[in-house]
Amino acid sequence: MLSVNKSNNLFIRANALIPGAVNSPVRAWKAVGGSPIFIERAQGAHIYDADGNSFVDYVGSYGPAILGHSPLPVVTALTRQLEHGFSYGAPTRLEVELAEKITAAIPAAEKVRLVNSGTEATMTAIRIARAATGRPGIIKFDGCYHGHADALLVRAGSGSMTFGVPDSAGVSEALAAQTRVAQYGSLEAVEGYLSSKPAEIAAVIVEPIAANMGVVPPPPDFLHALYVLTHAHGALLICDEVISGFRLRYGTVSEQAGIRPDLLTLGKIIGGGLPIGAVAGKAELLDLLAPQGPVYQAGTLSGNPLSVTAGIATLNVLEATAPYARLEALAARLENGLKSALQTSGRRGCVNRAGSLLTLFFGLDRVGNGEEARRADTTMFAKFFRAMLERGIYLPPSQFEAMFVSVAHSDEDIDATIAAAHESLQSIGST
Ligand SMILES: *Cc1c(COP(=O)(O)O)cnc(C)c1O
Repeated sequence: MLSVNKSNNLFIRANALIPGAVNSPVRAWKAVGGSPIFIERAQGAHIYDADGNSFVDYVGSYGPAILGHSPLPVVTALTRQLEHGFSYGAPTRLEVELAEKITAAIPAAEKVRLVNSGTEATMTAIRIARAATGRPGIIKFDGCYHGHADALLVRAGSGSMTFGVPDSAGVSEALAAQTRVAQYGSLEAVEGYLSSKPAEIAAVIVEPIAANMGVVPPPPDFLHALYVLTHAHGALLICDEVISGFRLRYGTVSEQAGIRPDLLTLGKIIGGGLPIGAVAGKAELLDLLAPQGPVYQAGTLSGNPLSVTAGIATLNVLEATAPYARLEALAARLENGLKSALQTSGRRGCVNRAGSLLTLFFGLDRVGNGEEARRADTTMFAKFFRAMLERGIYLPPSQFEAMFVSVAHSDEDIDATIAAAHESLQSIGST
């Protein structure tokens, strides 16, 4: 049994002062039971907890750590910047350089505004879309996550394209009703809605590869068709690439799908593990932002030199080393190993993967949208999570979070993970 006394004591102290003991809900392990381990440090593909246990890490800070933890080029750049100040509340050369790197890598990003989180990025994109079109409505897809702004903390009511209903207490029904929710991958509902209510929808927002209901790649041509459909009705398309940006290639998934969304959002990797977000897109849309235009948006720490330095250093490494083929090979090796572990154990399940993002869904043969994902066997996932943890593998603590493979994972890490999966699936008995 894993010794977790120190983590348990920290949990008790945290729980007394921090709601649920965590500063972001998934970290509390509600979906898998038990109380979380507290992390002391991380290096490369490995994390170490307060009790001195070490794990192969597949959380990767939920996306930013594509180079692994504390990669030397990022540490070196940050150390140098630390001596020059952390935040000035004034523009810097570094912000110009990061904007140049982002716009050079992403043709759809003619201009870019840096913010502090993915949540701020999508919130701002929607504000721009509403201002640009003069329309109130938003369409999102069931199972896609776009941060916790009110307009996007909305889930489907009943029916194929319904008024959204609040997905959190404190989100007003009136606001939620301005967001419609469609099944991921389904164009019919979007088309039906756009044609029945012309001039109501400002924008459709989508994850070009869904990675917040577990990994769910879209059907072929979905993104392109969605782009055409959205534009035919005078609405804008917002691609939320907070996870997918620079994760599958040096640039965006939407670009690879052959589209240039009106607006796109970035985060995670572009901050190299420090807080960041970005909204980018057509120059005339970005120029609606204050002080150039009438859409207000601001941030005390926006574009701060530490986040921007970590982002530039991370993108420099990704650009110079082009590790995407290596990431693909590592993740494919893991995918195949997990599939064979499922097969050997006779347990029902499937693995969805897009590049270095993957999810093992229990109890299902395929998962193509949110409705299907919710049918996954979360009890089995919780058992698997615990069995893997005992064997030194730290998975995301929810069936609906992606596993993240990084450049720092070795073939040996992957093979140890596969061996642990075989053992874990044997150990958790039959259902
Ligand atoms: C993580 C994420 C967000 C929110 O980003 P935060 O920095 O956590 O606010 C938004 N959209 C997608 C697709 C994400 O994965």
